Amino acid sequence: MDLKDLKLTPKRQEICKRLGFNSSFDVLTYYPYKYDNYEIARYKDFKVGETVMFSAELITSPSTFRYGKRSTTRFKVLYDDEQLLITIFNRPWIRNLGINDYVVIIGKYDGNNKVTALNYYTKDIEELVGIVPTYSTKEGIGQNEIKKLISLVYEKCSNELVEHLPSEYVDAHNLIDYKSAISNIHNPISSVLLKKSLARLKYEEFLNFYVALNILKGNATEGIKQRKVFDRNKINDFINNLGFTLTADQNKCIEDSLNDLASDKIMYRLVQGEVGSGKTVVAEVMLYANYLAGYEGCLMAPTEILAKQHYESFKKDFEGLGLKIGVLYSSMENENKVKKEIENGELDIIIGTHALFSEDVNYHNLGLVIADEQHRFGVKQRNALKNKGNNTDFCLMSATPIPRTLASSLYGDMDISTIETLPSGRKGCKTYLIKKNSIVDILDVVKNTLNEGRQIYIIAAAIEKSENYNAKDVTGLYNALLNELSPYKVALLHGKLTSQEKDDIMKDYNDNKIQVLISTTVVEVGVNVKNATMMIIYDADKFGLSQLHQLRGRVQRGNYEGTCFLLTDNKDEAVIKRLDVLCKCNDGFKISLEDLKLRGPGDILGTRQSGLPTFILGNLFEDGRFIEAAKVDAKKICDNLIDEENKKYYQYMMDNIKDKVIS
Ligand code: ADP
Ligand code: MG
Repeated sequence: MDLKDLKLTPKRQEICKRLGFNSSFDVLTYYPYKYDNYEIARYKDFKVGETVMFSAELITSPSTFRYGKRSTTRFKVLYDDEQLLITIFNRPWIRNLGINDYVVIIGKYDGNNKVTALNYYTKDIEELVGIVPTYSTKEGIGQNEIKKLISLVYEKCSNELVEHLPSEYVDAHNLIDYKSAISNIHNPISSVLLKKSLARLKYEEFLNFYVALNILKGNATEGIKQRKVFDRNKINDFINNLGFTLTADQNKCIEDSLNDLASDKIMYRLVQGEVGSGKTVVAEVMLYANYLAGYEGCLMAPTEILAKQHYESFKKDFEGLGLKIGVLYSSMENENKVKKEIENGELDIIIGTHALFSEDVNYHNLGLVIADEQHRFGVKQRNALKNKGNNTDFCLMSATPIPRTLASSLYGDMDISTIETLPSGRKGCKTYLIKKNSIVDILDVVKNTLNEGRQIYIIAAAIEKSENYNAKDVTGLYNALLNELSPYKVALLHGKLTSQEKDDIMKDYNDNKIQVLISTTVVEVGVNVKNATMMIIYDADKFGLSQLHQLRGRVQRGNYEGTCFLLTDNKDEAVIKRLDVLCKCNDGFKISLEDLKLRGPGDILGTRQSGLPTFILGNLFEDGRFIEAAKVDAKKICDNLIDEENKKYYQYMMDNIKDKVIS
């Protein structure tokens, strides 16, 4: 149900807005992140460092020490014939209690009969015994407010919680029903029921995922295409003229994809490889083979800058081979002319942004589409593209590589090629964490680098100053650093500039007419300026690990060793630890694994975008048991749609992902 129909109080509406709830489903699937089990602890069972709960009689009056707004209150209680000293912070009003009063203490046992209370209650201890969930929240929203909101929504909407899973699987795994699972996940009656609820909801998430994958796969690989015929000798000539030797992984990747082109099955392949592992040349070879077979091909890039850069390097690499190469993006001047050329089949390879798939672009004979940087490419685009040609093969390239077994469970609908090894001679990139969101401490190193003739990227997390987003903005940084770094030429780059402005700046940076480029993440993917060897990233804690790894990939493109500085004011231990991973590790596979663990697959794979359900409870690293069962069951369900219940569930999943699948 839409939350608007629930007539919530303005305060509750505000909570919903801040926590991102739009529907009753969003509220009911806002699961606790942890549970505490409150049982009465006897004194003899107290262990140092553990949380204990007990009810005891005061034997001294509380006394409070204040220091500014803070306070510490102490008093003694008698419990199980022992005197315990209780300390509680910032609850001065506890002084209302007196000798002989009873109080329930929940706190940490410090040893030597001392307890630091986390909370106290004056109600009957029996009311407190049980499992207590905790939700993640935002400043100013209390646990109780969230709990009340959820129970209110549950009361009004629990009739929506109908069973979708076919009963065969509910029975086979002895699953608790959906409604009870949702009820117990928020309000566990017992730890057994909580466990059963978790198991059921996790299994369901994975089952939904695999069934959705199956649906999308059916969508993507429908139909048979015409085999593409091309001259292998010409391809070998092209490869031999590259000026470097391909790595074994690149060769394998090319082999796989050429076989796909030559087969009568529509190609649906993921090529994943570390930053700088040389995916572009694999794309070039594929597009060349496609051209030799008599088709046009497209390369889609996530940004205009990258599209233009690919365009330049393709023109160079294909020089003298007689191919006509074009570029298309929405802000260009002669857009219509290029569209006409595409329609007339005058171009052999077209490079561009998502503008390549606008409605008014009609291809002549489209044989192959390659999407660079897969995580920016969703199912919507995939489908838009299917309408552009009948024999169109499809390949995604991703620079967020993940280990094979994981990749095949996540991208189960694609064939996968992986480029693991980097070309030899790569110098890598040294990364340092600076625990200050400022350049002052590294100014000498920065100037030295410039004096040596190298170039620098400076990255900001925000385009503009904003109240809601506490990060240095790119224009502010530009103004602040302009003089500091003179006489070197400093320029500003962000997505809001016109296409011509961006062009000019990138060109000047490429030609070393600009030495310092202060930019947003528009340079994140693919940008290739070999003389740039240093990157400074402000507010590094605002970025994902894989994204930072991508960014620093920009300064290890040439023969010099790159240096990357991650700047942050954030003191949070977990944040520092996360950023430290980058200082210690240069392996994209390991980094994306860390990211997956910390942030889930949605962020990395753009599964939200691609139409696949996300995991809220399910954990790819811990729930192997559920994953395996769900995988097997999903296949059985999809293979047997004659069964009424299977069909109903399948239809339900179709409806669920429909708006994302049909553009
Ligand atoms: P990415 O995989 O990040 O897209 P690119 O395709 O942009 O990487 O390649 C990075 C650089 O490495 C390019 O300048 C490219 O010409 C070069 N390169 C690619 N393959 C090889 C190789 N086998 N040996 C040496 N250099 C290579
Ligand atoms: Mg690339």
